[in-house]
Amino acid sequence: MTESFTAATGSDATGITSAPGRAAELESSLSALIERIAAACRAAGRDPGEVRLLPVTKFFPASDIEILYRLGRREFGESREQEAAGKVAQLGRLSQIRWEFIGRLQRNKAKSVARWADTVYSVDSDRLAAALDAGARAALDDGIRTTPLRVLLQVSLDADPERGGVRDAALHALADRVAGSESLQLAGLMAIPPLDVEPDAAFEQLARIHAALTSVHPEANELSAGMSGDLESAVRHGSTCVRVGTALMGARPITSA
Ligand SMILES: *Cc1c(COP(=O)(O)O)cnc(C)c1O
Repeated sequence: MTESFTAATGSDATGITSAPGRAAELESSLSALIERIAAACRAAGRDPGEVRLLPVTKFFPASDIEILYRLGRREFGESREQEAAGKVAQLGRLSQIRWEFIGRLQRNKAKSVARWADTVYSVDSDRLAAALDAGARAALDDGIRTTPLRVLLQVSLDADPERGGVRDAALHALADRVAGSESLQLAGLMAIPPLDVEPDAAFEQLARIHAALTSVHPEANELSAGMSGDLESAVRHGSTCVRVGTALMGARPITSA
């Protein structure tokens, strides 16, 4: 018999139930992933405590997030505003749960995201930074947030506008702008390697860009690099946060998003 998982336990139960077997599946893929990250750290001569795992739960139901929460995870990466806002409404009262927005963000969604996200990973323009600044300020004034919105700047490693990211030449001005806002907190950099470049080359370039930035903004110490397919390379090149979807959750439905 398949073991079924009852999510509705504990003082902050949500009443959400999940498919039988899913809890065991996620528990086993989570422990394999934690071991994989630890092995990558050992191979790179780094302390596993230096590399945070951000589970990426886009396209997967709130019940999966609740299972991961019961397994001790507190941070979840989402990349589509509407989907994420729905999950926040379902699960937002679980204590210490934090939502991190990792996807491309349109300015007209910035106000919503600034209400519930702890961190936005994909800030790549002054206009987006201004929209998040205004949204975070309003949320702070209304008491919806109590802390500034943490911001990672997304760096473009190939200048492809479709993939997002700020060019190296414009990075420092954008960093100054975010660091100068009281409602935003400059936390670091994020990048997605171009498809046609070796991850090692891309992450090495990113590490150089990050070192130059932290020499001016030491507080920008987070470097979010590495996904299911390339996290070992990212860890070798100083990643402090791997964003992992497929290797933890399974395959997502194929979409253009
Ligand atoms: C979906 C997504 C991920 C996770 O990718 P996997 O290859 O499934 O691990 C990481 N980062 C961003 C920005 C994403 O949109």
